[in-house]
Amino acid sequence: MEIVRTIESYRELYTHLQHPIGLVPTLGGVHEGHLSLVDAAKKDCETIVSWLFLNPKQFGPNEDLNIYPAEEKEDVSLLEQRGVNILLIPTTTEIYPSDFDSVIKLGKITKLLEGSRRPGHFDGVTTIVSKMFNIIQPDRAYFGEKDAQQLRVIQKMVKDLNFPIEIVSSPTIRDSEGLALSSRNKYLSVAERHDATFLYQGLLKAKVCYELGERNSDIVRNIVIQELKKSSLISIDYVSLSDHQTLEEISGEISSPTLLSLAVHIGKTHLIDNVLLQ
Ligand code: AMP
Repeated sequence: MEIVRTIESYRELYTHLQHPIGLVPTLGGVHEGHLSLVDAAKKDCETIVSWLFLNPKQFGPNEDLNIYPAEEKEDVSLLEQRGVNILLIPTTTEIYPSDFDSVIKLGKITKLLEGSRRPGHFDGVTTIVSKMFNIIQPDRAYFGEKDAQQLRVIQKMVKDLNFPIEIVSSPTIRDSEGLALSSRNKYLSVAERHDATFLYQGLLKAKVCYELGERNSDIVRNIVIQELKKSSLISIDYVSLSDHQTLEEISGEISSPTLLSLAVHIGKTHLIDNVLLQ
């Protein structure tokens, strides 16, 4: 695996790369969820490029940027072992020189769900993803369904702005108890980690109920809420049933397909998860 740290050195390499080029981006704190994206890219790309950059612009002032559990050495080794060909690790000043003054901003879809709780978060995401696409120039880019809204925001941006890139989504990887893998799981105490399993259990119970024919959105939402309320450590940010593309909230009857998503705080840790009802 070749590690490059500047845009210029990547550009020199780029002309020699075999297409299709698959891009797997991460903030760091690499785990099996990220590595599953590498596996997916390996199936249909000749060259796998990974991008390791803890993007400050997608973190709010009171969020966890300064303690984010990313260890460069460990991340590099995991990505290399899994078969990444080129890893770009840019510095913050390479990406955001002192005169940097642009924002890529999408509309309504970025104001819902996570966007309503984390103002500016998706502006940070779309700005860095646009830059990353322009720098790496991949044919395909791989993103996890775990970050359902991020995936849809990026799909919308690619469509609206005509990026010549195929966005490929990959299923959520979970631990043996169903907890979605996340770099932030490292923050959880033993008790918090135990109660974090209620997230997926709630989603699954609601999904089973939906599959048995329940279509009342309040009832389905409430199944998840009741499961989360079993834990005094969990504070609910939202439990949402939304149109799977636009993410607009559904009231009344659920029609298919629908995204059932949630966000909670367990102690200070922000966790999200989702399932698709279809
Ligand atoms: P992050 O480093 O958290 O920004 O994540 C980088 C990419 O990995 C994003 O596309 C995420 O959606 C994806 N990802 C994170 N966790 C998981 C998971 N448990 N399963 C599948 N993909 C994931």
